[in-house]
Amino acid sequence: MKKVKVSLTTRSYCILVGSGTLNSLAEELAKLGLKGKVLMVTNTTVEPLYGKILIDELTSSGYAVSSLVLPDGENFKSLETTAQIYDAILEAGLDRQGIILALGGGVIGDMAGFAAATYMRGINFVQVPTTLLAQVDASVGGKVAVNHPRGKNLIGSFYQPSLVFIDTATLDTLPVREILSGLSEVIKYGIITDPELFSYLEVNVIARGIRGKEFFIDIVEKSCAIKAKVVSRDEREENVRAILNFGHTIGHGIEAATHYQVFRHGEAVAIGMMGAACISREMGLISAPEVERIRSLIISVGLPVYFSGIAWEEIWYHMQADKKAKDGNINFILPTSIGSVVISPVDPHTIRKVVESELI
Ligand code: NAD
Ligand code: MG
Repeated sequence: MKKVKVSLTTRSYCILVGSGTLNSLAEELAKLGLKGKVLMVTNTTVEPLYGKILIDELTSSGYAVSSLVLPDGENFKSLETTAQIYDAILEAGLDRQGIILALGGGVIGDMAGFAAATYMRGINFVQVPTTLLAQVDASVGGKVAVNHPRGKNLIGSFYQPSLVFIDTATLDTLPVREILSGLSEVIKYGIITDPELFSYLEVNVIARGIRGKEFFIDIVEKSCAIKAKVVSRDEREENVRAILNFGHTIGHGIEAATHYQVFRHGEAVAIGMMGAACISREMGLISAPEVERIRSLIISVGLPVYFSGIAWEEIWYHMQADKKAKDGNINFILPTSIGSVVISPVDPHTIRKVVESELI
């Protein structure tokens, strides 16, 4: 297994990346001295696929394991569902040595993590992410949260796990649309910090398509290493961590304007990255050929670069609400070349011009 370290002084931990590795989880927990009772939190989609493998693996190594199978969906990422996790923790008799094991995508990871952060002011938390988005993004960095009826991820905390254990073979059962949604964040990492990762994607996607054990291990490891480095420098998003929001300003506007019903997160981010790249070109910060390289990669993986049917006013409304505009401008993460970005205020006219002339 490949190992990526997230360095955060006393809260440091490792991300292990392998393929077909679920049956060595107990060994890794034991190495970390984690030996309490385990509550596995998962959902109705993931439990039949990987729940039994994990329960067998842990019980055969002497762990006492209970499981909680929640309904599937972002709608259930709520305080009401979190209350069910607390009930299950109490039912299973977990004490301070107890371990919350999140098996699933970002919804399960964020919510189980929030329960782990708050139960008895914090118990052990282990992530076994099973979507590409969760493996390259949501499981890394310690943001845990649930939604409030008035906004996504409004109730949350920073809480680092003890271990992130990634088995990329779990992606074999993930629908293609979900794979692409995760891949969008991988492209993002290339654009913001890593030209080699970007070239690797260009070469591999064109030559072989989005497939193969090595491909997924590589992109997950590279992505985790990039996010780990950024998070290590800025755990609580006070400065540099903001670059991870590249593509998310317009992306968020599009998602919110369509009530999170039309686009997967990564699809909206793909359109948002295209928008930010075009804005950067309009401002003379990046060359047109670099922007076209970004467009080509996004299109060749099968992600969208356009949307339709949403009025500018709707997107603008949500962009402003999200990013607390100063003097009417909005702070954008803008690429200056593939592999580097700057943070800069952008005036609404430039944003509108790009959205209406390049993204629709
Ligand atoms: P998700 O958790 O809803 O998973 C997507 C779908 O895939 C679900 O239906 C799920 O049941 C299913 N699934 C999961 N693993 C599977 C597998 N191996 N095979 C088949 N189906 C599988 O969505 P997501 O995209 O993983 O995560 C989105 C969530 O992550 C959002 O709530 C978002 O706010 C959060 N997020 C958090 C962070 C963070 O830093 N904490 C970062 C990004 C996103
Ligand atoms: Mg994102």
